[in-house]
Amino acid sequence: MISVEEALGRVLRYVSVLEAEEKPLLECLGQVLDEAVYSAVDVPPHDNSAMDGYAVQAESIAGAAPSAPVYLDVVAEVRAGTVAERGVGPGEAIRIMTGAPMPAGADTVVPFEDTDEVGGGHHPGRIGIMRQAARGDNVRMAGEDIARGQLVLERGTYLRPQEIGVMASLGRAQAQVVRRPVVAILATGDEVVEVGQPLAPGKIYNSNSYSIAAQVLRYGGIPWVLGIARDEVAEIEARLSEALSADMLITSGGVSAGDYDLVKEVLASRGEVSFHTVRMKPGKPLAFGVIRGGGRAVPHLGLPGNPVSSMITFEFFARPAILTMMGRRAVEKPMVKAVLEGSVRNSDGRRVFARAQVRREGDRYVARLTGPQGSGVLTSMAHANGLAIVPEEWPSAGDGDIVDVIMLDWSQE
Ligand code: AMP
Ligand code: MG
Repeated sequence: MISVEEALGRVLRYVSVLEAEEKPLLECLGQVLDEAVYSAVDVPPHDNSAMDGYAVQAESIAGAAPSAPVYLDVVAEVRAGTVAERGVGPGEAIRIMTGAPMPAGADTVVPFEDTDEVGGGHHPGRIGIMRQAARGDNVRMAGEDIARGQLVLERGTYLRPQEIGVMASLGRAQAQVVRRPVVAILATGDEVVEVGQPLAPGKIYNSNSYSIAAQVLRYGGIPWVLGIARDEVAEIEARLSEALSADMLITSGGVSAGDYDLVKEVLASRGEVSFHTVRMKPGKPLAFGVIRGGGRAVPHLGLPGNPVSSMITFEFFARPAILTMMGRRAVEKPMVKAVLEGSVRNSDGRRVFARAQVRREGDRYVARLTGPQGSGVLTSMAHANGLAIVPEEWPSAGDGDIVDVIMLDWSQE
């Protein structure tokens, strides 16, 4: 039995960053840039007003105060998206809207609230300025955010909404990103039936394909759901060999001793087995290897059939593999220290991942176990936002113990 770290190391040795694809900007969300993005423009492209007000020369309004307003001639108006038809000279002002380009000659914008336009006293063709200003006040300079020619986003940047927005601000309609991996998903088991079908005696619904496909989607992969294979080596082999164009194969079930190690047999006959047990709970029976065919060697993770084991082993092994293929460098989930509420036994020296709901209480986190911890109790995952870790060398963990908790997400019940 190998450790969780050793198992992850072996999985990651078989995956590498995928090729680039060029896509419309919005579709790049959640992917990693495969180009360095330089700007072809200044952002903003022109000096412009940060306020609605009057564009002036700062010198014209020196000494202006509520008790001593300075009156300027209003010679034009300029709105965002247009250009003033003339410039501003000494003693003159142009009425200007936020985002409009600064008229030639103007160096300062006086906001409406510092003029007599607000609160009456308005004189046609003239504006009273009630406060002096420093040169450059309320003006956004061309290139102040991004200068033309500047490196804006490095290759390898993970694209969040803000990076998508930055690229749009450069006028980019497309970007080059590392493509998403296609992950083929096959459920195995004579007892497993598709959802939407009647449940005959002795059968259970195929929840694994759904939780796994949802995990693939959540972490940025493209699920390719292959359905359900009977517990027969030939059928599993046949179904997987149709999917060798995928970047990764995932099966659920057929890895425990009671299943005659079907998946291991497939791996052994069509490729090679790297490992088949990991010192973790849940998730001890977990097979990994490669399947060869059509000139390719495709990594194959054989997840255990128990629904909780399948989801947790996906988190620890499939998720880092998917993120690595997508060019992500940080593949660790955040971890917090929390006070345990509940107790867990660790009978055989494995690393136990107990489902917990983490909440903030004062200046600490508290992790309450989400009820029965059987690896078939999928609702223990549904009620959890984290996995509390009981290390291999602890025989148990109980109320008040400080444990590490890997956060699956930050949802609250
Ligand atoms: P196995 O690893 O095939 O021995 O399966 C272990 C347990 O997980 C058994 O109770 C199976 O019925 C259950 N199981 C296997 N495959 C699925 C599936 N696709 N959806 C839900 N439960 C499953
Ligand atoms: Mg089975």
